[in-house]
Amino acid sequence: MKADEFKVFDEALENLTPHQRGLVTAHLHKLGHIQSVTPLIESRIQASPACPKCGHSHIAHWGSASGLQRYRCKACKATFNALTGTPLARLRHKDKWLDYAQQLADGHTVRHSASACDVHRNTAFRWRHRFLALPNAQKATRLVGIAEADETFFLKSFKGKKQGMERAARKHGGKATKRGLSAEQIPVLICRDRTGSTADFVLDKADKAHISAALKPLLASDAVLCTDSAKALGAVAREIGITHRPINLAAGIRVVAKVYHVQNVNAYDSRLKMWMQRFHGVATHYLSNYLGWRRLVDRRNSAMPSTAFLSAVLGINYVQQETVT
Ligand SMILES: [Zn+2]
Repeated sequence: MKADEFKVFDEALENLTPHQRGLVTAHLHKLGHIQSVTPLIESRIQASPACPKCGHSHIAHWGSASGLQRYRCKACKATFNALTGTPLARLRHKDKWLDYAQQLADGHTVRHSASACDVHRNTAFRWRHRFLALPNAQKATRLVGIAEADETFFLKSFKGKKQGMERAARKHGGKATKRGLSAEQIPVLICRDRTGSTADFVLDKADKAHISAALKPLLASDAVLCTDSAKALGAVAREIGITHRPINLAAGIRVVAKVYHVQNVNAYDSRLKMWMQRFHGVATHYLSNYLGWRRLVDRRNSAMPSTAFLSAVLGINYVQQETVT
């Protein structure tokens, strides 16, 4: 805005009614949020310029739309912006993304997030799983040194699904009708090394074949696998050809040879379970999204800032390794 235009605008502000002043304040607030989120989004392309369609790195600026820079690929001629091909593509209300990311970083429920960000509950729910799609996919791909593995179980849930129910809905999470392992429990394998790298797997079955498929590509050949003597895990370690150190917790043994234990993975599992309680049971269909969410916030001892969470959501500067304390 030119200086003389601004002078007129500035003087006109004095004639606003209180209601109009409120509208202008809200508008400026919204613009401020968009101005802080846009550079973060644009940095995706600036960090690694590549066409989302063919992967070519020769791209050129091509106007702008929806407040974002557009690009055109010189190889395949596709046009795109920094969000094309990401789970956040075409998602509206960018001015609320940072606030929403803070809600996720703080682990709030859908109801709480919807009210805090002034969006409909359905929007808050849809956003949750769009925001969690990338963090879910970004788990450790290689564990080195001493790795600890543990199996844990989550109650099978069709929450939010109206069709294809195998049984009547449980109210607010509920309990399994049969105790212990049963078809009502979904097995999850959690594996963690001493650098804090973590990978988790929702398994169809907690048998040797399924565990082996998860662990084989994950564990370096010289890794040592510590478990709480689970038979299937031991059999998998033999199959992969790595050293297995079973810790007989049932016999009161906690640590073997001073370094072999499963305390990191067990502590992680406890934090995960405690954190999950607030959701009163999660739909099995989305379970891995929640595991990814927990993995992301678990990497910090202190509260995670919204920009860090949104960066992870956008796949920017994602650092998996962080030292365990
Ligand atoms: Zn291309």
